[in-house]
Amino acid sequence: MSPSLSLSLSLSLKDKVALVTGASRGIGQAIALALGQAGALVIGTATTESGAHTISNTLKAAHIQGLGIVLNVVEQDSIDSAIQLIKKQYDMPAILINNAAITQDNLLLRMKESEWNNVIETNLNSIYRMTKACLRDMLKAQWGRIINISSVVGTTGNPGQVNYAAAKAGLIGFTKALAQEVGSRAITINAVAPGFIDTDMTRELAEDQRRLLLERIPLQRLGRAEEVAAVVAFLSSDSAAYITGQTIHVNGGMFMA
Ligand code: NAP
Repeated sequence: MSPSLSLSLSLSLKDKVALVTGASRGIGQAIALALGQAGALVIGTATTESGAHTISNTLKAAHIQGLGIVLNVVEQDSIDSAIQLIKKQYDMPAILINNAAITQDNLLLRMKESEWNNVIETNLNSIYRMTKACLRDMLKAQWGRIINISSVVGTTGNPGQVNYAAAKAGLIGFTKALAQEVGSRAITINAVAPGFIDTDMTRELAEDQRRLLLERIPLQRLGRAEEVAAVVAFLSSDSAAYITGQTIHVNGGMFMA
């Protein structure tokens, strides 16, 4: 008798509140939409009022419950007021997506201390602040999902990006350590490491850089934000309950872990 295969996927995020930093465009916007389409109430953040409006309008147009709010991940006061606003209007987030980030590229010998510090503040120290702000309520609820958006560059390195690569690698260590701290409370914490995705961040690449890059990608194209968002939605779901402390690469094969 052949064994029967029972596949039960549970991807619904109904009744969950999700907080996505940097949801005004690019990968963050795609993540906000994917989580919303899976049933979550989505709070997306932008650094400006107009960005927050864009998020609210995008969610509304997609018939997703939630709103856009202003949040600067480098300012503790801004995080505190955002969390207060969320607490007042909704439940605390059960899903936190640390997505907001910047690049300020330069070769090390030319890199100003401000370029180093800005990137570490925005891309790494922010993860500490945002996660700490949300973790207590996840511990109380005995359920939580934290997904940190890293980068292929955090594993491979990239000339001209010592600041960005250090932040994105640091985030992977953070993910592994916290996964061990909070696993007993059914909270999972994972990193997703995109390769080169077609967003504002990569539109800055010069044409010849872009051509050289494509030669290194077996799938021969840049990725789409939705392809990263699909992995984040899966990791946020109950179907991914046994995955923690991992880094999932979404990079068209340009780096194989
Ligand atoms: P993007 O299009 O440049 O968007 C960046 C987002 O981060 C925007 O929503 C921006 O908000 C927000 N942000 C920037 N500084 C912030 C701050 N201080 N406080 C709060 N929010 C801030 O970036 P992306 O390409 O979608 O990248 C999203 C994530 O994927 C990042 O973590 C990035 O490192 C990672 N990633 C991207 C690629 C890629 O190829 N694109 C590859 C690997 C990893 P405003 O709109 O308000 O400025």
